[in-house]
Amino acid sequence: MISDDDIQIIHHLKIELHAKILAHNYQIPEVHAVADIIGDSLELALAARTTDAEILVVCGVSFMAETAKILNPEKRVFIPVPDAGCPLAEYLTPDIIAKYQQKYPEAAVVVYVNSSSACKAATDIVCTSGNALRIIRSLPHTTIIFGPDTNLAGYVREQVPDKEIIAIPANGHCYVHQQFTSDDIRTAREMGGMILAHPECPEHIRHNADIVASTGKMIQIITETDEPVWHIFTEEGMAKRLQALFPNKKFYSNKNAICRDMHKTTASDIIRSLQNLQGEIILDEESTRSARRALERMLKAS
Ligand code: SF4
Repeated sequence: MISDDDIQIIHHLKIELHAKILAHNYQIPEVHAVADIIGDSLELALAARTTDAEILVVCGVSFMAETAKILNPEKRVFIPVPDAGCPLAEYLTPDIIAKYQQKYPEAAVVVYVNSSSACKAATDIVCTSGNALRIIRSLPHTTIIFGPDTNLAGYVREQVPDKEIIAIPANGHCYVHQQFTSDDIRTAREMGGMILAHPECPEHIRHNADIVASTGKMIQIITETDEPVWHIFTEEGMAKRLQALFPNKKFYSNKNAICRDMHKTTASDIIRSLQNLQGEIILDEESTRSARRALERMLKAS
């Protein structure tokens, strides 16, 4: 639980530095308590693009802070815990992309935002879980090389059957979403209510959920649906965020579905980052330019 003193310190530092705090939906409640913008990867990327702040503090994992920096080269971007990474992003490398481009020269390369800036620089266009279907449908290509999440690739394949989706590499996945089991679904069904699953979940979870949606879309669906009980199949921090947003509804989640890296950031880390200007994102200009092009294509098509 964050103290009133810490809230005040962060409030004054933000004013003094003309800074804004962007936090992912999976962050812990004390980070959400001081954030200016809370959202999924797409919402954070859009917010980073439109804010007039001089300093952005991105509370999430490293690819999110890098994305904010790529889209805002003139701003100073900080990540309070620099070693907060995304294990899913590590499955893909530019070498793997190049290998598949050689094999399928007619294909478009679409890389999930959960990837390194070097991979984004090697791709035609980036997508998030919130806009993946729209992005893939918008492309004239019938063959799409897609990485690094095989579950999201499978979801896209199901929803856009007229295109061939080649998942690269063959084993890329998020360990948080991969661990959900048929027992979790059975328990949720016995309790009643609606089951909402993230597209990073494996096929057997997606197929047995009522709705598959990104975290941003989940909020919209719950807002528009008159259902009091929800089972949330994504990172556990999302259920906490939903409970705070909708106190009259009840949200259940698997308590083991915790992203260790997403939960690293605390209010103390934010204070340290703002006070000492620690954890600045510095990127190579050359790769930044190509990665920005791929991200801007995504924002245009979103
Ligand atoms: S929840 Fe999964 S995809 Fe999201 S940051 Fe953590 S490891 Fe990466």
